[in-house]
Amino acid sequence: MNWLEIDKNHVWHPYNSLPSKTKILPVKSTNNTSIFLESGEELIDGMSSWWSAIHGYNNPKLSEALKKQVDIMPHIMFGGLAHEQASLLAKKLSDLTGLHSVFLCDSGSVSVEVALKTAILYQKAKGLKKYKFLALKNAYHGDTLGAMSVCDPDNSMHSIYGTYLSEHIFTKAPELGFDSDCSESIIELEKNFEEHHEEIAGFILEPIVQGAGGMRIYNPEYLKKARELCTKYDVLLIADEIATGFGHTGKMFAVEHANIKPDIMTVGKGLTGGYMTMAAMITSKNISDIISNSQIGVLMHGPTFMGNPLSCSVANASIDLLLEFSWENNVKKIEDIFSQELEFAKELELVSSARNIGAIGVIELKDDCYAQEIQDYCVKNGVWIRPFGKLIYSIVAYTINEDDLRKIVRTMINAIKSIKKDNK
Ligand SMILES: *Cc1c(COP(=O)(O)O)cnc(C)c1O
Repeated sequence: MNWLEIDKNHVWHPYNSLPSKTKILPVKSTNNTSIFLESGEELIDGMSSWWSAIHGYNNPKLSEALKKQVDIMPHIMFGGLAHEQASLLAKKLSDLTGLHSVFLCDSGSVSVEVALKTAILYQKAKGLKKYKFLALKNAYHGDTLGAMSVCDPDNSMHSIYGTYLSEHIFTKAPELGFDSDCSESIIELEKNFEEHHEEIAGFILEPIVQGAGGMRIYNPEYLKKARELCTKYDVLLIADEIATGFGHTGKMFAVEHANIKPDIMTVGKGLTGGYMTMAAMITSKNISDIISNSQIGVLMHGPTFMGNPLSCSVANASIDLLLEFSWENNVKKIEDIFSQELEFAKELELVSSARNIGAIGVIELKDDCYAQEIQDYCVKNGVWIRPFGKLIYSIVAYTINEDDLRKIVRTMINAIKSIKKDNK
């Protein structure tokens, strides 16, 4: 039986029906920023597999680290046992973030769950009953129940799951634009803190770029204010850097744009360079001390594959590689090219705005009915992107060459130009 037939019959794809209502392309192999299809076609990768393949695919150093580790020890339970790769990774994450205590887990959503649990535990240890979270409109923090409950209540799946999701407090998303005035959203934020701080354990946000909830870039001043208010009201600031982390916005972590330190950070996606599923929750020493010295005394969470040595080894290699080469220069070059090329999108009739930062480029359309047409056009012209709703966007590996990056943006723009409004 043809394996693609099996896929059609048996395999769920993300955010999809079974069988899929949209086209699924069979992939044969990858190399750096190329995806090779079974049909023999080659696509330039404009997605870096959902922000994860920061060094491109099949990087020799990452592959070597994984191959080496597989012979030493592919997995060992983390309960009561320790291993070198996990320790090395924890030290790297602590050094890079300026935070201290590291909880390794299996996916971004799980790290968000652990962050939420940790914040409640911390407040409880201090004798406070704070069970709610403050979150932003347009937020995306993952698909598990706790994470979903702090995603934007309107453009996510809240309405489907109804009372199964816990209710939290949502505040106006910061105004669109890195340099935009964000005083209105700050006023609403202050109001929410004043009114609700007694019940809020933590304020969770995606720093500088809100990802899947709208690809929205905002002003670092908002983060500074968030830090100030969290400190004032003893609410933990949780920076979800799962998408933005490891250089995507031009800084190692997006909080650095505002020179602030969160109390808790979650990282994932780019952590293993796109090789293995892994994420981490990292907290200040104060938080782990307060929890550990409390009556409860422990962080009650422990995934079976916690601290998986294969994931740790490739994460270590990926971070080493990032620090070895001048990733900041590469990302700056990528940012400049995005800026130049996206100018041409701004003049199109169907486009409402275009924006970019670091290795991220976004075109927002006025209408949300063209995503499939645009994707089909791009694939036909050798570019892999996956638009959603009104958003046509690209996140590229830091190893992409200039010609390929220009081709990605130009193909996105040509795809928009190719749309005939009346045949939607
Ligand atoms: C992708 C993402 C998550 C969820 O990570 P998964 O690994 O898909 O569970 C959480 N937060 C943000 C900001 C993300 O971009």
